[in-house]
Amino acid sequence: MDMIPFYVAGRPVHGDDEVIVRHPYDGAVVGRTSFATPAQVDEALAKATVTPTPAHVRAAALDHVSRRLAERADEVARLITAENGKPLKWARAEAGRAVSVFRWAAEEARRFAGEMQRLDTDPAGEGRLALVRRVPRGAVLGISPFNFPLNLVAHKVAPAIAAGVPIVLKPAPATPLSALLLGELLAETELPEGAFSVLPLPNDRTAELVEDPRLPVISFTGSGPVGGLIQESVPRKHVTLELGGNAAAVICADWSSDADLEHAAQRIATFSNYQAGQSCIAVQRVFAHADVYDRFVAKLKDRTEALTTGDPNDEATDVGPLISEDAAKRVEAWVDEALRAGAEALTGGEREGSTYPPTILVNVPAGAKVLAEEVFGPVLAVQRVVSDEAAFTAVNDSAYGLQAGVFTHDLQTAFAAHQSLQVGGVIIGDVPSYRADQMPYGGVKGSGVGREGVRSAMEDYTEPRVLVLTGI
Ligand code: NAD
Repeated sequence: MDMIPFYVAGRPVHGDDEVIVRHPYDGAVVGRTSFATPAQVDEALAKATVTPTPAHVRAAALDHVSRRLAERADEVARLITAENGKPLKWARAEAGRAVSVFRWAAEEARRFAGEMQRLDTDPAGEGRLALVRRVPRGAVLGISPFNFPLNLVAHKVAPAIAAGVPIVLKPAPATPLSALLLGELLAETELPEGAFSVLPLPNDRTAELVEDPRLPVISFTGSGPVGGLIQESVPRKHVTLELGGNAAAVICADWSSDADLEHAAQRIATFSNYQAGQSCIAVQRVFAHADVYDRFVAKLKDRTEALTTGDPNDEATDVGPLISEDAAKRVEAWVDEALRAGAEALTGGEREGSTYPPTILVNVPAGAKVLAEEVFGPVLAVQRVVSDEAAFTAVNDSAYGLQAGVFTHDLQTAFAAHQSLQVGGVIIGDVPSYRADQMPYGGVKGSGVGREGVRSAMEDYTEPRVLVLTGI
């Protein structure tokens, strides 16, 4: 198996220490690459300087990557499955999203121009006009997690190119291959040297990048503890944190017909278990109104038990392995803790290696980890509530706040949810797991700081610079 290069200032290179990437399902070797040496890191950072590049060149590069990802979609999906273990159907969805992210970024590159502001709304501003341009804050360090090894990289790289900002990307150690493939496609473009680097590094060498003043902007997606460490270590840098969550769905009293409950059950069963629950907005908690609780739970159990768990390379598989056996053992321990504390399992089963079966828990006592923390596994806690308002209070009883899903037909309830829920986004009539990459996305409380989404990330990587014209 050939050694896969990584990218220093757009150039494919090899490092010294070999990295072997294994399939999370069966441990098979799926790729070999290497870690960047200190000299290679230094070269990447030295060359990560803002080089003015016409918008048409940046847009053409982004369009090229979008097109090439679409042409190679099947290969890309198989690579995602191989390194991450998510079922092929979800890997295909991820590859498709990355195609769109690059396309939107190309469109934004063409129209991202700042704004004009009139100043004569005040007597002192008469005869004056302001132009507000967005200028790069400096090179971006992108740090990405394992759970969407292509699309979460796309979320950082595509807006950087669109905004004309150099980016140094450090992929997750378990899943570097999709990021390297993206590097290969970017290297086919006319972007200037230094526009991008993709540097595999072990966790204990990431501080080299985080603390280096040549990377004044950090865009981090990953776990809360690591995000917190980064923020504390570089308080003067511009840091965006996309962290974890324990997303909730609410079934309101009016969501009561058989078709309503069937729909909610199907969506929640799917999106509490997609990617084995390893999504920051996988449904982890459900608060169902007492009027509909019993009927909803019966349907949810049926829908969950209909999911196929097993080999992610099989087109029929819904739920694959977790990223490692250790991750599956942690989920198992958290479920055991909840059961010992008095929770009941409506459905579930035994762990097999890195695979954990879809599990529904009810009557989970407050404080149990499966409610209070981020499970990041195929485990759902369903609670009965006496009112929609009580459900909203329960959603907010969390250290996190990424997104919430509210199943209601009622406009007033939808607005009440939007007003009261402490999250970055409220999805009405669907699960919290809905995300479109052109909308602002991010969290409050322990779920992070700042927003991603193509346009939001471009704003994040740049700052306004005002030009005041006088005497006009
Ligand atoms: P992680 O925090 O372990 O790792 C994320 C990245 O940080 C990896 O690239 C890792 O190598 C790097 N890293 C590890 N230690 C570091 C250090 N000391 N300094 C700098 N970088 C370091 O997260 P993970 O297990 O890969 O991913 C799962 C987490 O990511 C979950 O908490 C999930 O909710 C979160 N996530 C959030 C979003 C979002 O958009 N909010 C999206 C996906 C995943």
